[in-house]
Amino acid sequence: MRRVYLDNNATTPIDPEVFEAMRPYLVEHYGNASSIHWFGQQARTAIEAAREKVARLINARSSEVIFTSGGTESDNAAIFGIVEAARSESKHVITSSIEHHAVLHCAKALEKRGVNVSYLRAGSDGIVDPADVERAIRPDTVLISVMHANNELGTVQPLEEIGRIAREHDIYFHTDAVQSTGKIPVDVEKLGVDLLSLSAHKFHGPKGVGALYIRKGTILRPLLYGGHHERDRRPGTENVAGIVGLGQAAEMARLHLEETARRVGNLRDRLENGILGRIPSTVVNGDRERRLPTTTNISFDYIEGEGFVIALDLRGVACSTGAACSSGSVEPSHVLTAIGRTADQARSSIRFSLSRFNTNEDIDFTLDMLPPVVERLRSLSPHYKMQGLGARG
Ligand code: PLP
Repeated sequence: MRRVYLDNNATTPIDPEVFEAMRPYLVEHYGNASSIHWFGQQARTAIEAAREKVARLINARSSEVIFTSGGTESDNAAIFGIVEAARSESKHVITSSIEHHAVLHCAKALEKRGVNVSYLRAGSDGIVDPADVERAIRPDTVLISVMHANNELGTVQPLEEIGRIAREHDIYFHTDAVQSTGKIPVDVEKLGVDLLSLSAHKFHGPKGVGALYIRKGTILRPLLYGGHHERDRRPGTENVAGIVGLGQAAEMARLHLEETARRVGNLRDRLENGILGRIPSTVVNGDRERRLPTTTNISFDYIEGEGFVIALDLRGVACSTGAACSSGSVEPSHVLTAIGRTADQARSSIRFSLSRFNTNEDIDFTLDMLPPVVERLRSLSPHYKMQGLGARG
């Protein structure tokens, strides 16, 4: 059976070139990068080369990049690291209500420790207003954490303006750039961020490895204690093959960024316009301009998202009802409710997320398959029938 993968915001397939770059570090060059012998030095050299590649992708210095186990750890290390190192008696953090749980749950944990947190709303366009960030600032604000691209909607946040505000008020600024890195330009200088989280498996690298950019001079308490790895910022024997894979994925993303974004963006637009044109009572969630080229999030009125995902999966198309991490939960997406969608609209929304491995044939297949599935599911909906929109009889 043909299978089409349109859930690339959950994770992407590893690029075969990335896999080939990693292979020697799993089988031949297995040394510990802290060892002074040849085996160790092979690993050390590979790690430092990967660090250069990641730094180049985000316009940082390689000394400002540390490797972690992924986006979740990078977010935790940045948020707890800054707040715990801050010396003020009372501490306040600003974040948004559309963050990934890797940030939101850090904020909730901080609240339990007595830290005050402001959760900014996003507009119905899925975008946070920088003026709201400025209004939320207090004398005890120690950190602003606003994501770059939202994982459910793909909407890209106005980080340059928020970065300017953070700098004017001398407040550390962290961004979760897990969804944007490798897909659109990410430049730590332009964005004005002090800390930035990224994760390899979102751009064709391996799972379980990521990085945190920490601007030189940033005062941060480490999350973990152990050896002196990663400039005392993150102890633990390095995941050499994973780091090499991240480096290779970063290099490939950098070299092909513009062309990939254009091609994938065209596929996404064809899918989106095809759905809106062929299926009535559908609406795109979030701003259609300021968003990743890879993502569309669409509400299909009168349809329950989980059932829809299962029906599509049975016909060979993999997509998602929102954050992969919330699959199985009956709660509507916190992102869609935060931008003002009703619980019903949120429950009827589907995220299609693409990558450079998708083809025109994938889109044709999906567009042919969707209308009958939607019609069948809607025919089972009493609300749809009551509106007189369903098939007669
Ligand atoms: N932040 C965002 C915006 C994400 O989309 C994800 C993954 O879905 C994460 C953080 C977590 O990253 P990881 O899976 O590498 O821990």
